[in-house]
Amino acid sequence: MKDEIVHILFHFFIPFLLLLFYLYFYKEVKIENIIIIFLGSFFPDIDHIVYLKYKKSIKEFLKYNIFSDRYRKGILIFHNIYFMIFLIFITLFSSLYSLSLFLFFLSFFLHLLVDFLDDKFTIRTIEHWRKIK
Ligand SMILES: [Zn+2]
Repeated sequence: MKDEIVHILFHFFIPFLLLLFYLYFYKEVKIENIIIIFLGSFFPDIDHIVYLKYKKSIKEFLKYNIFSDRYRKGILIFHNIYFMIFLIFITLFSSLYSLSLFLFFLSFFLHLLVDFLDDKFTIRTIEHWRKIK
């Protein structure tokens, strides 16, 4: 329970950190970029939707995703090492063309990094980030 709360707090803390980075380095306040940072931070978990078909209700589904580490034991579309590597390239590439895209992909990547590090140190395995089934 404590680990899950820390995990969720990190998912809020990271976009705020990125927001400070954005405000400090770009010295502008565009509301769409602020929204994009938060969108990019929570969008990766959309791949958990595949587990919805195994649950009876939205409430049960949310409870399962927040309080269970079992969802991290199978490969997910975004939550895998191959997609993270792809994201590094797409983040760097997007930085050449669009600040909004750069912020979106960077916050997307940071979300996955938090999940990856959490799995590495909390459930002590990253096997499910590598295997393709
Ligand atoms: Zn996640």
